[in-house]
Amino acid sequence: MKKTPFVTLQQVNEICRQYPTPFHIYDEKGIRENARALKKAFSWNKGYREYFAVKATPNPFLLKIFQEEGCGVDCSSYTELLMADALGFSGENIMFSSNATPEKDFLLAHKIHATINLDDFSDIETLDRLAGIPETISCRYNPGGSFTIGNSIMDFPANAKYGFTRKQLTAGYKLLMEKGAKHFGLHAFLASNTIANEYYPTLAKILFQTAVELHQETGAHIAFINLSGGVGIPYKPDQQKNDIFAIGEGVRKAFEEILVPAGMGDVAIYTELGRFMTGPYGGLVATAIHEKKIYKDYIGLDACAANLMRPAMYGAYHHITVLGKENAPADHVYDITGGLCENNDKFAVDRELPEIQLGDRIFIHDTGAHGFSMGYNYNGKLRSAEILLKEDGSFQLIRRAETPADYFATFDFTDFFKNIKN
Ligand SMILES: *Cc1c(COP(=O)(O)O)cnc(C)c1O
Repeated sequence: MKKTPFVTLQQVNEICRQYPTPFHIYDEKGIRENARALKKAFSWNKGYREYFAVKATPNPFLLKIFQEEGCGVDCSSYTELLMADALGFSGENIMFSSNATPEKDFLLAHKIHATINLDDFSDIETLDRLAGIPETISCRYNPGGSFTIGNSIMDFPANAKYGFTRKQLTAGYKLLMEKGAKHFGLHAFLASNTIANEYYPTLAKILFQTAVELHQETGAHIAFINLSGGVGIPYKPDQQKNDIFAIGEGVRKAFEEILVPAGMGDVAIYTELGRFMTGPYGGLVATAIHEKKIYKDYIGLDACAANLMRPAMYGAYHHITVLGKENAPADHVYDITGGLCENNDKFAVDRELPEIQLGDRIFIHDTGAHGFSMGYNYNGKLRSAEILLKEDGSFQLIRRAETPADYFATFDFTDFFKNIKN
């Protein structure tokens, strides 16, 4: 399917009069419509709730949109917990799914009454010693081996650092019950960015079956099953979008087949989606500032991997549109680069695009999740602004761009940079 940006050149030029490139821009309408479709797809389940994975796009304005749409948040660190609490998410609307967890993180999660999803058997003792075991607690499951859908191997949980083994789950639930836990959650995340409507239903079957066993083995009351993240998005134009209604229906069937006959039809389904919630509804807008022709043709942008790391880190494909040239023939081949002193700082390699002139606005698609948030300051590059394209077509600054003063702020105990004023 042809990928079309959710902003036009005209809109971008208007934004640029106030806020120079580069910036990430988000589509409020797309985010809300998608969140509503997700909710509808799981409306068959009475307790259903999406806990948006904060790490995907930790912007308070976007979290407020999810709050308005009835979502909770999934946090994995101290600062994410602080953010959720400050934005008025109540304890039951905060899931804490961490790993290698510092003690102060557990203490804060406990203090704000977040639902804690333990990553390891040893966390039981740690949490008990620090704060006591709450009545509602969750454990993350790692089934080991390989995870397959039909005949295709999706991932290798045996190599993943997360979760309890199957035996540890039984022992863990028993120990938690001894320490006062009354209501249990079960969580697993077995494959990332899946473009297959079968992912959630396949995972659900594994978790539902395990929940029935755990209930039989320990007598524990299973209150919720958390399917976590992993529902993907089509980064490439030839990829098929997931059908969230087919996914919800697949999970419902597994629920009817496994949980209902076991007398566990009151279990709530939770999700912790990140990429699916914001990925397609964000774009990185940059300007072509340099062209060079050596052994290949390069276009240099004012954005770099510090603003979007996925291509450099994973060789990930992000579609690119030259704004205003949506319908021009793609009769040039370019490497589209940032300016880091790192040869992997390329948003695209050998990409067929229309002829690019300096000053052209470049829209890099699908940066709404794990885009801005993976940013860093290598080469003294600064994090960009974030802009919200509102439902009525107006735009709002939702994070200002970093300034040199921000970059030097961690040296504020010295005098070296005190005269730097941006
Ligand atoms: C990253 C993560 C998510 C979100 O994953 P997506 O692939 O963005 O949907 C959810 N839960 C946990 C525990 C995670 O680490």
